[in-house]
Amino acid sequence: MIKLEDNLGRRFEKLRISLLNECNFSCVYCVSEDFGSISPKSIQKPTADQPLAPDEFIKLIEAVHRLTGLKSVRLTGGEPLLHSNLFYLIKHIQKIGISDIRLTTNAYFLKERASRLFDAGVKSINISVDAIDQDIFSEISRHPNTAKVFQGIEAAVKAGMNVKLNAVIMRGKNDSQIIPLLDYAAGLGVKIRFLELMKMGHLYHSESGLFFSEKEMLAVIQEKYTIEPVKREHAETSNYWRTSGGGTFGIIANESTPFCHDCNRLRMDSNGIFYGCLSNAHGEKLSPYIHDDVLLTEKLRGLLRLKQPVKFHGSELSMRNIGG
Ligand code: SAM
Ligand code: SF4
Repeated sequence: MIKLEDNLGRRFEKLRISLLNECNFSCVYCVSEDFGSISPKSIQKPTADQPLAPDEFIKLIEAVHRLTGLKSVRLTGGEPLLHSNLFYLIKHIQKIGISDIRLTTNAYFLKERASRLFDAGVKSINISVDAIDQDIFSEISRHPNTAKVFQGIEAAVKAGMNVKLNAVIMRGKNDSQIIPLLDYAAGLGVKIRFLELMKMGHLYHSESGLFFSEKEMLAVIQEKYTIEPVKREHAETSNYWRTSGGGTFGIIANESTPFCHDCNRLRMDSNGIFYGCLSNAHGEKLSPYIHDDVLLTEKLRGLLRLKQPVKFHGSELSMRNIGG
């Protein structure tokens, strides 16, 4: 294995894969109002015509793992539970030698898959849930039946998974839901993370007024609970606090408390295009280099150089394409 490290000591240790762009939800922060998605064609170059076949995904992961020694893979999207070869992919990623396989999902299809995922080796799952109030949740996700999300969450807990909930907090839309979400998570005995809205995709050039800061989130929580900080782990996207109510919550604050300095993530979209940084829309197609370790190393070094030194600045790429 070659030492692939930048001048801040950052390496690629975690690969996030957007298995597909499609999703059964159209969350307002992820998909533009015309549902037409998101990123101008020009910035998706270099493009592949078709989403990758499962074996093409595997070959790319294998090659990157050979050079970087990836520690974990997160399967995301779009909605990864819509991928028809999800279990095949999980099995073959394990065969490469990566046992830590995680998933990020909206949980709509999770109830019927949670046990099988756990048995297949997915022990850790992040679930997006932006409100407890069903009307608010439906307005954000643009989906009428959000009750299934809660069934999915509860099935994952029951299956024995390590569950983390994620909620993007937006001013005037779901800032009223911070305490209900926190209490729901504490009742289930799982962690919840509140996310500051990120300027991605259709939000990149807009000033929506929806941004709700870490400071404001903490103020809302401290109206009800006293809180104490938990020590941040290396390359964590989130800072955590424990509350006097027995819950643990995190805040992913790209704007207020950036975490670029020890970022260890590499991303691949469903066309096999790799991104070194969420905040840089330049992608690299690595499939031509998978049999040439010298060139592949060079390409990976180039992707590492794209990481922001300090702070995320947003990107024209949508989370649904690049994989959140
Ligand atoms: N469909 C799955 C889900 O919703 O969990 C996986 C893909 S989704 C793109 C991954 C994560 O990105 C979700 O937690 C979502 O809330 C987050 N996300 C998407 N767009 C975002 C934005 N503009 N700002 C902050 N988080 C965003
Ligand atoms: Fe779908 Fe996830 Fe984007 Fe919502 S955030 S539209 S669930 S990909």
